[in-house]
Amino acid sequence: MIKIRYLYIGIDDTDSPEGMCTTFLASQIINKFRDNGIELVDYPRLIRLNPFARFKTRGNGGVSLKILNDDKSDLAKEIVLDEVEKLSMFDCDNTNPGVIFYDGEITKEMEDYAFRAIYEFITIDEAEEFGNSIGCEIHKFKKGRGIIGSIAAIGLPLSDYTYELLAYRASENYGTKRQIDYESVYLMDKETFPDTFENIDYSEEYIAIEPKTPCPVLYGIRSNTVDALEKAKDIVEVSEPIVDSCIFKTNQHTDMHIQKASDIASMKQFGCYEVVGEVKNRPTIIDGGHMFFYIFDESGEVECGAYEPTKNFRKVVSYLRPGDIVKVYGGIGEQNTFNIEKFQVVKLNDLEYQNPICECGKRMTSAGKNKGFKCRKCGNRIESDDKVPVKINRNLSRGQFYETPVSARRHLSKPLCRMDLTR
Ligand code: ATP
Repeated sequence: MIKIRYLYIGIDDTDSPEGMCTTFLASQIINKFRDNGIELVDYPRLIRLNPFARFKTRGNGGVSLKILNDDKSDLAKEIVLDEVEKLSMFDCDNTNPGVIFYDGEITKEMEDYAFRAIYEFITIDEAEEFGNSIGCEIHKFKKGRGIIGSIAAIGLPLSDYTYELLAYRASENYGTKRQIDYESVYLMDKETFPDTFENIDYSEEYIAIEPKTPCPVLYGIRSNTVDALEKAKDIVEVSEPIVDSCIFKTNQHTDMHIQKASDIASMKQFGCYEVVGEVKNRPTIIDGGHMFFYIFDESGEVECGAYEPTKNFRKVVSYLRPGDIVKVYGGIGEQNTFNIEKFQVVKLNDLEYQNPICECGKRMTSAGKNKGFKCRKCGNRIESDDKVPVKINRNLSRGQFYETPVSARRHLSKPLCRMDLTR
């Protein structure tokens, strides 16, 4: 039996805040492949890596392509390297492209490396050593930092995945206002949500499919299915040319960055976790609009933050009370604060201790330290200092999830509309 062999191609770190996008570069390569009779196996992949990586431009995404390893492989490699040379933003100090060619099987150690690139930091040297050890053909441009993400983009298994359709602008329009008919985006969302998601942030009237950077992307629509993307594309109207479009298979919105922490003390800075803890204090807001509170368990405590950009999410967070038990999802950032992406209410503390009610119906007041309570209306006294438990109404529900708005959501965060999906 003849075993089919594949060539995997990884590309990363080609863009800068001033322009380009590695997905656009990939779409150009795919076009050139097509012109030369080189077909992709499966969709191109857009893989988001560690959200805390220091040198990311925006979303820390690498791209990988899979083709048959045959007599056209050398031509394919030439096309990839030419396009990376031609389109990368070499002028930017922080743009250090890396290209990887790999023609073996995807091994468990490659998968482990890829998860490490999501959970931890990897150096260029480490990536190079690993790449060499598994027989990758490595191409570094400038510092070649992109090889870190390129190897990971090839090796990451996608047990859960989504798709993103990216539409690209004509180069003369780069940097100008995107000509997207917002009404049609609302219609598209109405017709295709929840198969598509993250289209609009209704609370902020924010059109999330439209990037805010001068990159070649006109819009990007995210979805569980390719069919929904095609329907969505037909509905969204634009009044500028779309020169190309490409659908990527991705780990976006899968929570792949989240690790289950057994307790609070086991979490590390720059890691992303889900962890259960008891709310210690009422959330408080500081100057700048950031909201903080602590959760604890028997191992320790951690400060949780809902930052200003999470807007109305802070209102929901403000409903938390000491004694509530929550499962929080998010990452521990620069200030060692757990940056909440979403939380689930595990238990609600719906008891509040209040002064007793007098026989006459009036709530009593303290009669002084250790002197019990007295009634201002009828003069009645109670010797005991014990307040009485009263069941209170809560604005949160047990079992319910609460999430940050679309406008503040990370690429990897799984939105609630995907929480019960299994693939
Ligand atoms: P965009 O989302 O616009 O494509 P980006 O945010 O992905 O841009 P890149 O240009 O890809 O930014 O830069 C990210 C850099 O970080 C790449 O060089 C990539 O190899 C590297 N990188 C990725 N994951 C890690 C990691 N876990 N540790 C260290 N470096 C990483």
